[in-house]
Amino acid sequence: MPQDAPKNAPETLIQKVVTACGSCEDCRHFIEDACLFLPELFRLHDRKREHGEEATKDELQRLSDLCNLCGLCPCAKIRREIMTAKAAYAARDGLPFSVRALQDVGRIGKLCGAFPRLSNVMVGNPVTSALIKKTLGMHADRTMPAVPRKNFDHWVRKRSARVGRDTDHQARKAVYFPGCTARFLFPEVARAAVEVLEAFGVDVVASVHDPDGECCGMPPLLEGDRDMALNLVSRNLQWMAEHVAEGFDMVCSCPTCGYFFKHLLRDGAYYSEAYQQHAGGDAKTLRIPVGMGVNGPSEGNMVVLHRATYGPILRDNGQFSSLDPLQRIAVGEHAFDLGEYLAALAVEGRAPKMAHPVPGRAVYYPPCHLREQKIGYPFLELLENVPELSVVPLTGTLNCCGMAGIMGYKKQFHHSSLELGAPLMDKIRALQPETIITECLSCRLQFQHMDNIPVLHPVEVLRTAMNGRRSIS
Ligand code: SF4
Ligand code: SF4
Repeated sequence: MPQDAPKNAPETLIQKVVTACGSCEDCRHFIEDACLFLPELFRLHDRKREHGEEATKDELQRLSDLCNLCGLCPCAKIRREIMTAKAAYAARDGLPFSVRALQDVGRIGKLCGAFPRLSNVMVGNPVTSALIKKTLGMHADRTMPAVPRKNFDHWVRKRSARVGRDTDHQARKAVYFPGCTARFLFPEVARAAVEVLEAFGVDVVASVHDPDGECCGMPPLLEGDRDMALNLVSRNLQWMAEHVAEGFDMVCSCPTCGYFFKHLLRDGAYYSEAYQQHAGGDAKTLRIPVGMGVNGPSEGNMVVLHRATYGPILRDNGQFSSLDPLQRIAVGEHAFDLGEYLAALAVEGRAPKMAHPVPGRAVYYPPCHLREQKIGYPFLELLENVPELSVVPLTGTLNCCGMAGIMGYKKQFHHSSLELGAPLMDKIRALQPETIITECLSCRLQFQHMDNIPVLHPVEVLRTAMNGRRSIS
């Protein structure tokens, strides 16, 4: 790296991470099969230490591309710094067209959804398929998903008279946020989510009803495209906050969307002046809810800190600090993973009878952004009630499918992505399951690329156990 790189240059920012992890080394071995970033970091660090050879600008940029914010490593601060470096690269150098196109999952979904037949003809034709892959920077061998004839938006429009009705006066009210992959590629998952929520007594509004219902923002955030992420989030935040104010919860069947709304959106919001005024902070003290990553003396459910000491450190200056902190907190505090939400309703006695056997052997794989939410494996508990289904959990924290959002689609990461996912696929094959069950649809795409074992979202299995049919449309 050039010695005179300015303080905020992306190379300086990512080099800071290399130095920090290189002098810590805690992740040197335990994470090497589940992360592309840290093994490369240690390779560069060791080379410098042993041969004095500095990482080049290209090596540092490639290094920053390798992190997919899976959350397996223990340091949130390090992950934040990697994201800052990615954003600095994108701001200074721009993003290639292929990345800008690929990260805009919602737009691709809407476009393909408008012409599903044509999209599938183009995907199925070797010449046009190769052209699409080249334009999007995809590897030639990567399987492209089929576009469903009718996406989730079609289904919601068709039954809109029923969506949003009061099921009973005590019903919970929830906005269901399907995420782009379920909305445009796997609408049967989104439909199952709505139907199962309703069977648990929830009054459901699908977020695609709202004209501003958009991608959660995670794909562009991972690519360092702060402007696009901010744009998507600001369009979602207003209507989401309004629904929360009316008593709705936000329920996500995609663990990445859930992780985004619960954790990333709220990052720093409790340190804002608006929240401090609301929570009773003053000129001398900052008050942060317990469990929000800050330790210190507590009063009730608040950690109370000296403002003079902590004020300059704890600041709302992250990616989304330009958005209303109280709205970010309101949405984050009312966002739930679908499994977590259903499990809580089951505890209240609201679970319907799972009357239909779903005989078979399945492996359950909890994806990284579910593990990162630190809510356990709620769907695993719910699946225990499905008659005649035997489920083997693969819950080791270092299992990774290797898809990493859209990273596995990129030409330069295709092989690394498959190498990263190979140990997990081997473990799954060794168990000889008839079905793989996982919440994450990116994992599903990766498993479908690597093998022919059918893959289901757990909510699809629950729906079958409840009504005996794959669909009740
Ligand atoms: S991520 Fe954290 S724990 Fe792991 S090597 Fe880096 S500084 Fe150490
Ligand atoms: S967030 Fe995941 S990919 Fe990024 S450094 Fe940590 S373990 Fe590696």
